[in-house]
Amino acid sequence: ASSRTPLIAGNWKMNKDHNEAIHLVQKLAWSLKDAKHDFGAVEVTVLVPFTDLRSVQTLVDADKLELTYGAQDVSAHASGAYTGEISPVFLSKLGVTYVAVGHSERRQYHGEDDALVAAKSKAALAEGLVPIICVGEGLDVRKAGEQVPYTLAQVDGALEGLSAEEAAKVVIAYEPVWAIGTGEVATPADAQEVAGAIRARLAELYSAELAAGVRVLYGGSVKSSSIAELMAEADVDGALVGGASLDPEEFAKIARFG
Ligand code: PEP
Repeated sequence: ASSRTPLIAGNWKMNKDHNEAIHLVQKLAWSLKDAKHDFGAVEVTVLVPFTDLRSVQTLVDADKLELTYGAQDVSAHASGAYTGEISPVFLSKLGVTYVAVGHSERRQYHGEDDALVAAKSKAALAEGLVPIICVGEGLDVRKAGEQVPYTLAQVDGALEGLSAEEAAKVVIAYEPVWAIGTGEVATPADAQEVAGAIRARLAELYSAELAAGVRVLYGGSVKSSSIAELMAEADVDGALVGGASLDPEEFAKIARFG
């Protein structure tokens, strides 16, 4: 048992317009209530499209929902000639708590590398946002048995230039790419192997105290049927949930660990 508060984060990806977002958040709030969710024991957040943030903020504030919310990406810059990008300053003004950084879909389709992930993480932290730094190997790397060194190299890259004060605030999500959206969830032992290695690396890079406080999530086809055994692992502090986060009852079940 650790003192880390588990985090269950829903990544909606590019789904739900701002009207649909209101309905989904309302349904999720009801489902969590039905499930008698203990918000002190498990934190629940939803990472929504940028265009949904204002609607979600209004609803969360008006109904005093205990949910937090966040974005799926952020610019590495605060302002300026960066057409199409979204500043961490804007996200902060919208009451955002978390922002996913370096999701495998951003790395794959937008060429994001570790240096950019580090710059985005630093920019997010400067505005009081918590980056959820996504790392994880593809199938070829897994088949070669290189998942630990590969993922740790991403962790090193993403934390490059972050002070201990900054690094203490981040969340790291281990998301093996072969498990994302495929229905193929990693075994609890697979998740623990890499989550444990990430925590050990944090201890090497910073300190054992810092490593003991940072939350490491698992992501990849998590469902209510698989969450309990994942959460039973010592270094898994929650989950980043894609597809299943669009079903409020299923997501609420995941948030109470099945
Ligand atoms: C994700 O998008 O981060 C994710 C883990 O997706 P899924 O749960 O659908 O595999």
